[in-house]
Parts: sequence; structure tokens; C-alpha cells
Amino acid sequence: MNICSEILDRHLGSETINQIAVRTLGPYWPSEPDQHDLTYADLIEESCRFADLLRTLNLRKGERVFSLLPRKLELFISFLGTLRAGGVFSPLFCAFGPEPILARMVRGEAKILVTRTSDYLKKISPIRHQLPQLRNILLINDDPAQSEKIEGTLDFHQAVRQSSSALFTTETNDEDLALIHFTSGTTGRPKAAAHVHAAAKFHRLSGQKALDLRSRDIFWCTADPGWVTGISYGVISPLANGVTMIVDECEFQAQRWYQILQNCAVDVWYTAPTALRMLVKAGQELASQFEFTKLRFAASVGEPLNPEVIYWARKHLNITIHDNWWQTETGGILIANMPGMKVKPGSMGKPLPNIEVRIGNRQKNNAIEWIDTPGVHGEIAIHKGWSSMFRDYLGDSDRYAKCFSQDWYFSGDLAYRDRDGYYWFVGRADDVIKSSGHLIGPFEIESVLMEHPSILEAAAIGIPDPVAGEIVKAFVALKPEFQPSEDLNSDILAFIRSRVGPTMAPRQIAFIDDLPKTRSGKIMRRLLKARELGLPEGDLSTLEAFT
Ligand code: ATP
Ligand code: MG
Repeated sequence: MNICSEILDRHLGSETINQIAVRTLGPYWPSEPDQHDLTYADLIEESCRFADLLRTLNLRKGERVFSLLPRKLELFISFLGTLRAGGVFSPLFCAFGPEPILARMVRGEAKILVTRTSDYLKKISPIRHQLPQLRNILLINDDPAQSEKIEGTLDFHQAVRQSSSALFTTETNDEDLALIHFTSGTTGRPKAAAHVHAAAKFHRLSGQKALDLRSRDIFWCTADPGWVTGISYGVISPLANGVTMIVDECEFQAQRWYQILQNCAVDVWYTAPTALRMLVKAGQELASQFEFTKLRFAASVGEPLNPEVIYWARKHLNITIHDNWWQTETGGILIANMPGMKVKPGSMGKPLPNIEVRIGNRQKNNAIEWIDTPGVHGEIAIHKGWSSMFRDYLGDSDRYAKCFSQDWYFSGDLAYRDRDGYYWFVGRADDVIKSSGHLIGPFEIESVLMEHPSILEAAAIGIPDPVAGEIVKAFVALKPEFQPSEDLNSDILAFIRSRVGPTMAPRQIAFIDDLPKTRSGKIMRRLLKARELGLPEGDLSTLEAFT
């Protein structure tokens, strides 16, 4: 098994081969035809050239190739070519500064880096001397003023052009390392999850089961390939299923997103709660100017999907958003509101076929207390054996081992199951609030807060209290048409108290312009808490601009 040949070469000899595999939309789109396509045949050829180039550079099986690239065709070629050559690929999020890049390349033992001239000069050059293991740097020249070759680097396009396009794949086994994905850093220092080639099997099937991917679909996964979603479901699963992937080179912009859904005739859309909340913020007026007649299936991942957002999308986009749950560690979607299933807004859905999920609590000596009673909270545990499961945390195998009890992977997320077998997210174990002997999940409070007409986003944390242990404090970002005031504060406090009762209700509400988020769009409750309590802020390498 080799991921690249499994997802690309399988189409040789079929009609899919001449279909567009990936279409990138540049900044001038749609006002000018600024789009770039590669067919499946092109991707096979380009990935062979890149693999041949790596062979010329003496990349050995298992050695690591890192990318620091924007969402353009070269990123897809580098990813696929590396796997074809038997290398291990690690995509870095392009907006990282030098420190997070250095930390990740050291941990991942990067041997080759693919990046752009501008990023090289700004970010890599200052840390180059701290990367003695890095042998080669391939540069895509994005700076026309830089015509001189930079010492110690190779020109990506020239080198790829000179390489052979003859079809070859280095033989790899199911259990050979293929990918290193760094987690989002929501709860602490990002972990380096190692994934193997066998994962591709699961990506193909889970794309069909959880995202309804069908051959020839037009599919838009909005996640950046710097995060696991942008690789598992932004490249591997769609290619394995013979779809045409849309890739937007630009950052979020509500009108542009609607234009993409409409003008590109997107059939299946995979996005995240934060992006959906930003569409809510942009208002129904804008949404009403577009029609999404082709859109057949829409799904969301990365954070809990508040029911309010589902109701809004049903009303204004005419589509039901299907929440699903997984992690960098699980490599693929494990719990989902699958096509054809009744969606219960607020629930993550049910386990995919052949995925065994239970709710339990880990105890001493590897024992597990299983919770089979519907409605009772515990940790989400998954029976080992699905092929996209991570195989290690690089540099932290002890922590890896601690994720397992008996044959079960414990996810660190709390949830409960209802009588119909649906799973409901409660919160990350780290974020759960302990108040007067109750365990309170922030998600439930946040979702109810969002039912208040003024609130766009909310985050609940626990702060110490001499009597209750912890009390709930909520940070709320208002919709643009509302202003913070004492009256509004009292109104929200009364509203939430009447809805969730005095134990769970926040005692304090703070207005905030924007909640701190990771670059992958997750609310960083730990940072709100650290600032509130004056504690060290911890690793902020994935924090989006926030003051
Ligand atoms: P880190 O592990 O570094 O703190 P992270 O957990 O945010 O970061 P990811 O692996 O990208 O890194 O995110 C997975 C986590 O995102 C899950 O463990 C869960 O907490 C949250 N998550 C993902 N999908 C959902 C969902 N549908 N509902 C609720 N939470 C979700
Ligand atoms: Mg995590």
C-alpha cells in the first residue's frame, strides 16, 4: 500500500483519468478567469516527476519532506510526489512564523523543505543554521525581483521539469510512516501525530459514508492542508473517490464563499463551525443573493456545531449541515451525521460502520469503567483497529502509550450517548468545569448563549470560587448590530439562568470583540482562562492574531 498510488494510479484506464482532479481559484477569481486545473493524468505525471526529483536528491524511504506552501498546485504535487517516493510528508501551515516552523521541523527531522522565495527569505533564512539536518530547500519563486538563485536552494519548477515522468512508486508497506500531522494546539503544545500508508483505505470509505462523496462530484473542503482535515479530506479521500476538488487560494470572505458554492456548482461542501458562524455574521441579506442548487451535502468538523447555526443554514442556505467528529489522532471521521440519517441538531451523529465507540472512564491499572446508561457523561473511547489511527506522537511515545487502555484509544473528549445511539459532545476533558460537585461541559452553555439574539459566539470557562470550587464565566462576541452595555449584560445573565438553571448558568459575562482562536478556527478556552487567572499563556504558536 502506498497512499499516492492507491488514490491516483487506481484511476489509470478509467474515464476519471481525464477529469479535473484539482482546481485552484486565485485572488482575481471570479472577476477574471484566475483558475488553475490539473487532471488526474496531470497529477500522476507531476507526482512522478516530483518523486523522481526526490530520488535524485537521495531521499531515502521514511525520510521527511516538509512543505511551507500556500494552497496552490505545487502543494498537492509535493505531497503526492513525496508519498510516491516513499518519503514522509509534513505540511506546515503557511502563516506560521519562524519559531513554530523551527520547532516542528526539528521534531519531525526535516530533510527537505519545499517553500516560496518570499517565505524563505522572511522565515527560513533566519533559522537555517539551526536546521543542520535539512539537506535541500526547493523554492517556488514568487518574487519576480529575485532573479538570482539563492545559495543553497533549488528552483522547484526547473528541477521538476528536468525530472522524469516515468511511472514509478517506491514500495511501501501498510505500516510504513507516511504523514506527520501536528495537532491544533488548542489545549497545549501541539503534538506530532504519525500516520501510515494504510490510512488511505479508511479515507476513501469514510469519504463515501460520512461526506457522500461520489465519482465526478465537485467537492470543496475549506480546510488548509496545513491541518489534518485539509489532507485527509482535502486531498486523499476526494482523489481516492474520483471527485473534482475546489481549492480557494484566498482567506475567508463571505461573498466569495457564496460565489464559490454557486459558480463552481459545488455538490459537497466540508467546512467548520467558525466559518459558518462568520457566514451568520455576514447576514441573511448577502446569503439571499445566491442560489446553491447543486449543493447536495454539507458537513462540518473541528468544533462543536451549535444548533443555532444549523437552523440558520437551513433557513438561509437551504441546506442541513451535518456535524462530524474526529481528531488529528484518529486520522479520519469516526462519528458523523451520515447521509440519509435524521440530524439531531447539537449531536455529532453515530459511529461509522465498523467503528466501535464507547463511553467510559479510565481507571487505575488499565481498568475501564464503561458507561452504558444513555445520557451519562464519560470519555469517548474507540476500539483500536481502524487504519487511519495514529501510530505515535513523535518525540513523546510515553504520551502516546497513555492514550490507550486495553484495546481502546481514549480521545480526551467527553460526550454521552442518547437512547437512539447518537453521540453528544460535552467538552474536552481539559475544558470541563467542575462546579458544586457537577461537571459542566462548556458546549451546552455556549450553545444556549448563542440562542440569545445578540450573541454571535461564546466561550465558557471555569474560574475558582471558594464555595463552589469553580463558577462559570462566559465570554461573548456580539453580532455587529449590538453594542455592549450593562443592560444587555443583565439581560444575557437572566436569559441563560432561566434556560440552564442556576448551577450551570454563568455568574459573569464579559463582552469581547473576538474570541481567541487557533489558526484552524478553534476557540482557545485555555487562553481565556490563563488571562483571566493571570497564569502563563503556554504555547501560542497556533494562535490567530489576537490581543
Ligand atoms: P490539541 O490536541 O493540540 O489541543 P486539537 O485537539 O484542537 O488540538 P485537532 O486534532 O485538530 O487538535 O482537533 C480535534 C479536536 O477538535 C477534538 O478532540 C475535539 O475536541 C474537537 N472537535 C472536532 N470535531 C468536533 C465536533 N464535531 N464536535 C465537537 N468537537 C469537535
Ligand atoms: Mg487534541
